[in-house]
Amino acid sequence: MNKTTGLSPFDMHCHVGTWQTPDFCHRSTGLGDLTTLYERLGFAGALITTTDMADNTGLAHEIEAYSGPLDLRFAFWVLPANLNELNKLAGHVAALKIHPSFLRRPVSDPAFKPFLAMARSMGWPVVVHCGRWQEVAGFELALDTARQWPEVNFVLSHMGGDAPCLVHDTVDRIVRLGIKNVFLGTESIRQFDLVQYAVSRLGAARVVFGSDYNLNSPSAFVHVVLDAELTTEENELILYRNARDLLTQA
Ligand SMILES: [Zn+2]
Repeated sequence: MNKTTGLSPFDMHCHVGTWQTPDFCHRSTGLGDLTTLYERLGFAGALITTTDMADNTGLAHEIEAYSGPLDLRFAFWVLPANLNELNKLAGHVAALKIHPSFLRRPVSDPAFKPFLAMARSMGWPVVVHCGRWQEVAGFELALDTARQWPEVNFVLSHMGGDAPCLVHDTVDRIVRLGIKNVFLGTESIRQFDLVQYAVSRLGAARVVFGSDYNLNSPSAFVHVVLDAELTTEENELILYRNARDLLTQA
């Protein structure tokens, strides 16, 4: 439990490994860096995926070997060509991660169909990166895909896109179309009013705390949620209950 907040957050969006893209200055951390930090911060656990190196097998086994107080879960980083690896690792997997921008393909691309079918049969949530590149990583593509796979829960990263108007548009479209199987991840969202907006229109059960560690500081994003001045129950839903519910359906 965190000494300041009295809460034990679960982080639904973490990366471990080394980034290839120069955009992140080749940032590199190991699992030990994460566990040392998250234990010190009093977190309950984290859903961890790889970087753009997609070292799924290495990370899955590292997580398996961890024996500390944190509840660590593994999210498989999808590549169009790594379905065989997913089949081999299926027993370690808690969720899928699809990053359309890095893969330069929208989540609606037929290449992802076998992965979504596997998520459906295994009960895994699918975390989809959403950003400003609307033709590839736009929230509308993610929402359309969610409507085509109603038995799969989708978590839209960055609450649908890391820009205030994109978040508003994402929330409004979910409400208008009555989409039930979509959740919004708070990673990289710095404006507490966006959390308030999503909670007021969708309810706290549809917002899931994430930080985007190793690119962001986890506690900074806990405070974005807390600054929204929600009820204790709403904070608990966002900071750990929703993640736990999503991950225990598997
Ligand atoms: Zn991320």
